[in-house]
Amino acid sequence: MRALVISDIHANLTALDAVLEAAGSFDAVWCLGDLVGYGPDPNECIARVRELPNLLCIIGNHDAAALDQIDADTFNPEARSAIRWTQKSLNQSSRSFLQGLPEKIQLERVTLAHGSPRHPVWEYLLDTRTATLNFEYFETPICIVGHTHLPVIYSLLNSNHLARLSIPEPNQVITLPEHAIVNPGSVGQPRDRDPRAAFALYDTEENLWDYRRVVYDVLSVQERMIQAGLPERHIQRLAAGW
Ligand code: ZN
Repeated sequence: MRALVISDIHANLTALDAVLEAAGSFDAVWCLGDLVGYGPDPNECIARVRELPNLLCIIGNHDAAALDQIDADTFNPEARSAIRWTQKSLNQSSRSFLQGLPEKIQLERVTLAHGSPRHPVWEYLLDTRTATLNFEYFETPICIVGHTHLPVIYSLLNSNHLARLSIPEPNQVITLPEHAIVNPGSVGQPRDRDPRAAFALYDTEENLWDYRRVVYDVLSVQERMIQAGLPERHIQRLAAGW
């Protein structure tokens, strides 16, 4: 089976549509949370995602904050103001969809979590030490996470050692290690100094990870963000990719 793996769309419909077009054919979609927050199209992104075939979707911290399940005061002031805007903009149908999302999904070979398998909604896997500890918190060979907006592969050869970090090259299909935590990067708000939307296609039988980047019309999203009165820093970072 070929799964399209998308994460951290952050209400950026233009980036999401570019990804869906670039992805070609796929049998299922795994969406790793943060559908909303930061961007100007929360309802449109949710509507697009929920009609994708064989969708599995988990909740992210921005989705939980938009539902008031997480106190917006725990976010920095700009993120908080984007959350308040999102709360006002979400329609009832979008809200119900987000309310139904689980924190973690375990499949036969893969576990899906937004931040980490240990603390699915909140924990950032930004270093090998934290990643190493997290290998004890999932039972499948592979765990796929989002949240950091950084495409990365952590692999663990031996539980007595530190996990190894590698940064994949776009458009190079690789066989995933036996035991790995993988991040496809962010669709709607990349933070690795590459403004292109990030996603991956995962071949579950062959264990092949096809990580890709696609250009999208950043300017049109920035214009919608200006019209919505969203924070300047979030508008700028789309063009810079960090
Ligand atoms: Zn995010």
